[in-house]
Amino acid sequence: MALKVYHKKSVRDVAVDNKRVLVRVDYNVPRDDAGQVTDLTRVNNTVPMLQYLIKRGAKIVLMSHMGRPKGERNMKYSLECLVPHLSRLLDTEVKFCEDCIGDRAEAMAEALAPGEVLLLENLRFYKEEEKNDAEFAAKLARLGELFVCDAFGAVHRAHASLAAITEYLPAVSGFLLEKELVMMGKLLDEPNRPFVAVMGGAKVSDKIGVIKNLLPKVDRLLIGGAMANTFLLALGYNMGASMVTPEHVEMVRDLMKKDIEKKIVLPEDLVVADAFAADARTRNVTVDKVPEGWMALDMGKRTVKTYSALIRNAKTVIWNGPMGVFEMPAFAAGTEGVALACAKSRGNTVIGGGDSLAALEQVGVTHLVTHASTGGGSTLEYLEGRVLPGVEALLDARE
Ligand code: AMP
Repeated sequence: MALKVYHKKSVRDVAVDNKRVLVRVDYNVPRDDAGQVTDLTRVNNTVPMLQYLIKRGAKIVLMSHMGRPKGERNMKYSLECLVPHLSRLLDTEVKFCEDCIGDRAEAMAEALAPGEVLLLENLRFYKEEEKNDAEFAAKLARLGELFVCDAFGAVHRAHASLAAITEYLPAVSGFLLEKELVMMGKLLDEPNRPFVAVMGGAKVSDKIGVIKNLLPKVDRLLIGGAMANTFLLALGYNMGASMVTPEHVEMVRDLMKKDIEKKIVLPEDLVVADAFAADARTRNVTVDKVPEGWMALDMGKRTVKTYSALIRNAKTVIWNGPMGVFEMPAFAAGTEGVALACAKSRGNTVIGGGDSLAALEQVGVTHLVTHASTGGGSTLEYLEGRVLPGVEALLDARE
């Protein structure tokens, strides 16, 4: 499938003064077992655009999902807990409506003065949200005159507040979504070369589509994580007790056969362990020397050097997924090495996926990469060449 570069209208391209602007944000913040919010990055990230809208006298209505309440009104997933934080950040009293549709929500939205902000209750308290229900979307649309989508992490889903709603209101991107689209565009539309992609993580099934799609675009595709084990298995190496997915061996073998330019790069050596444990015995071995009963949990020292050099000399880098079990310090060197190499690369570096972002934080280099993408599933589906329903429906830049 071809990779599509989106050119969509942004909220900057339209008049917002005195208008009710309905903004779909992604406030699906992580919480601990007691329900306390543990990280407010997603809320903080929306502030520049909200301040922009406030300054221009827009009447702002915010809507989001949080967690998986499965269509029921479960207060464990209420968004009300974000009101004090948001009010402090925006230096204005943010109002809250305990419903996201209906008379009360409509009255509160109508009553907004320019520069005022209203946060609606969790969209997923209605099962219609995830069903992309047209009637539900029409009810949401009554709350605004313009729709702004700024929930990049959710645009791969055809849900009512992302897709169906665009049938009822003119739809544009917010600042966060705009940045993701611009960065992806830079990456895929005539990228500076050499263009290096680095793919890691556990599951071949999650990334095989991305690998197939990126291969014609890139100059090198570096593979790491447990995924690399299946590639090595397909080449005939004995992987001991390593995590592999034998059902993918055929597909991977086929892919490597088609890779006549030898763009796919695999580890030369591995860190193997006698158990899946932080204090396991470990060894650095070449890929042909994995001891029986041992498992590969990270790439080896020589591979870290090779991969780092390729990344540092690249002009465009895209990285998604850890290169080993980086949660345990004994197996973090590969992932941290890639994070550092991205930070020191000569090129544009776009990093995605929760684990890769965590590794950047771990090494303290998030500020040194070109773009830390919050997309997760959206980025992968985009790179797989799939349509992003929440983006597709936005007004084209030239309209
Ligand atoms: P994914 O969700 O597919 O991106 O996989 C991320 C997970 O893969 C992380 O929790 C890593 O600990 C794990 N992982 C990476 N490399 C390996 C490996 N060689 N063996 C087992 N698990 C791994």
